[in-house]
Amino acid sequence: MAECDAGYYCRVCAEYVDGIVDSEIYLRYVLRDIPFAELAGMPEAHIWCNGNLAQYIVDPAFGKTVRVDDDQDKARQDPQTRALMEKVITLAWQRLQGLPDSGLDVTEYPMPDMVSPHEMGESQLGSEKEDAAPRS
Ligand SMILES: [Zn+2]
Repeated sequence: MAECDAGYYCRVCAEYVDGIVDSEIYLRYVLRDIPFAELAGMPEAHIWCNGNLAQYIVDPAFGKTVRVDDDQDKARQDPQTRALMEKVITLAWQRLQGLPDSGLDVTEYPMPDMVSPHEMGESQLGSEKEDAAPRS
């Protein structure tokens, strides 16, 4: 990462966001939740400072305890929605970790062929079923 005086500070905890691998807005960009045109104007945050999003990252490498709003707790989600959210957001987070060394252009960062969180609760759930891991 380039060192830069005009860095970005987390809108939640006010600490420096040390690169895109920790960036909540880049994670949402990879998820296609934020369009490229709006990326530069979004207030920065650590991924773990948005607990409602970070709770869906199921990877020991993430290893952060996050605070989640009661009404957003994934324990309250129906199991199918929760499993899909965990799958997509974990994949996006894992993708994000490799992006700085990937050689990809920033416009190529968003995940291909994935549903965004906005779409998950709606019609996309049905078409995703075939790809999901089998459940007993
Ligand atoms: Zn923060």
